[in-house]
Amino acid sequence: MTIELNIVERWRDFPILNQQVNGHPLVYLDSAASSQKPRCVIDAVADYYREDNANIHRGVHQLSQRATDAYEGAREKVRGFVNAAVVKEIVFVRGATEAINLVAQSFVRPQLSAGDTVLVSQLEHHANIVPWQMVCEQTGATLQVIPMTQSGELDLSGIDELLTGSAKILAIGHVSNALGTVNPIKGLIAKAHDKGIPVLIDGAQAVPHMAVDVQDLDCDFYVFSGHKMFAPTGIGALYGKRSILEQMPPWQGGGDMILSVSFEHTQYNDLPYKFEAGTPNIAGTIGLGMAIDYMQEVGIDNIAAHEHNLLVAATERLEVMEGVNIIGTAAEKASVLSFMIEGVHPHDVGTIFDQQGVAIRTGHHCAQPVMQFYEIPATARASFAFYNKLSDVDALVASIEKVQEMFA
Ligand code: PLP
Repeated sequence: MTIELNIVERWRDFPILNQQVNGHPLVYLDSAASSQKPRCVIDAVADYYREDNANIHRGVHQLSQRATDAYEGAREKVRGFVNAAVVKEIVFVRGATEAINLVAQSFVRPQLSAGDTVLVSQLEHHANIVPWQMVCEQTGATLQVIPMTQSGELDLSGIDELLTGSAKILAIGHVSNALGTVNPIKGLIAKAHDKGIPVLIDGAQAVPHMAVDVQDLDCDFYVFSGHKMFAPTGIGALYGKRSILEQMPPWQGGGDMILSVSFEHTQYNDLPYKFEAGTPNIAGTIGLGMAIDYMQEVGIDNIAAHEHNLLVAATERLEVMEGVNIIGTAAEKASVLSFMIEGVHPHDVGTIFDQQGVAIRTGHHCAQPVMQFYEIPATARASFAFYNKLSDVDALVASIEKVQEMFA
C-alpha cells in the first residue's frame, strides 16, 4: 500500500503527461520505445545550457570546469546505478545500439575468423543482431541463434551445443522489447563463462524497470540507452570489465581519446576516454545522471513492484477478452504486453487507440525474427512505466473494446 501511494502521484512529475490528445487525456503506453522525462531531468538539461555550457576536459575556465564536473559526476552516478567496480568501466555512448557496435568492432572483430561463431537469440532487438551480422560478414564467422518457445522464452535445450569453443561471444537481451520476457541471464552468463565465452547483455529494456548489478551478474559488457530510462535521447552507457576494456583498441579516433598526437605516433588516452572520441553529449549525460538520481529517489524496487501490478492487472483483463490474443506469455515478464485483436491489423488498432488518446506502438518493434517465429507481421504493444496508473489499464481495455466495436 505504501508503495502504491508513493508511486501513484509520480505521473505529476512528468509535464508531458498532463495534456489532451484528440480530446482525451493522454494515456502513454509506449515507454518501451521511449520513456517520458521528469521535470528534474528537463530542468537539469536546461540549467546546463543556461548556466554551465562549455566544452569539457580541456578548459581551465570556470564554465568548462563546472561542465566537466557535472559530466564526470554523471559517470559516477551510472557506475553506482549498475554497481560497476570503478568509473573507468563506464563509457558514454549514444545508446545501446552504439555500445553494441563498439563491442562488435573493437572487441569481437579482431578475434573472429571463418569457423568462429557469434551467439545471439531469436528474441533480440535488431540492434543486437545486425552489428553481429556485420562483423560476421567482415570476418567470415557465422551467427548462431538460441531458439525461442511458443510462450516467448529462450529454448535452452540445445544451449550446451551452441556454447562451444568456436563461440567468441554470447550477446543476449536482459528483457525482450517485443514480448517483455525477462531472460535468465545470470545462469547463462555462468554457463558461457564455464566455456570461456564472454557475454554482452543488452539491458535497454531492463534498466528502467529493475535493479541491475553488473558485478553480481558477472557479465563482461552491459549496455543501455538513457532515453528509455527517463533521460534524454542520444546518451547511453557501455559497462565493460576493466581488464577487457583495457585490451580493446579504440573504436573511433579524434579528440579526447588521445594523450598525444604526432604524425609518427598517437598515444591513446586511458579508460574510459579511449572510447569517447569527439565532443560528447554533455547535456544528455547530465540529464542521465539526474534521471538516475530521480529513479533512486522513487526507489527501483517500488518501480518494479508498481509496474508488476500494472502488468498483472492488464494481463488478467486481456486474457479474458474474447478475440484478443496475448503474444508472449513467459513466466517472467517486465512492462510489456503485446497483443493481437482478431480480424484487425495492428496498425489499425494503433490508429484507433490514438483517437482515444492512448499511445501504443504497433509494428515489428525492431524484432522481426520474433514476428517471423509467430508468423505474424506485427503486434500491438502496450508498455508500462511507473508513471502509469491503474486507470491506464482501464483505458487500454476500453480502447480494445472500441476497436472491436468498430470492426464488428
Ligand atoms: N535493445 C533493445 C532491447 C531495445 O528495446 C532497443 C530499443 O528499442 C535497443 C536495443 C536499441 O536502443 P537505441 O535505439 O536507444 O540504441
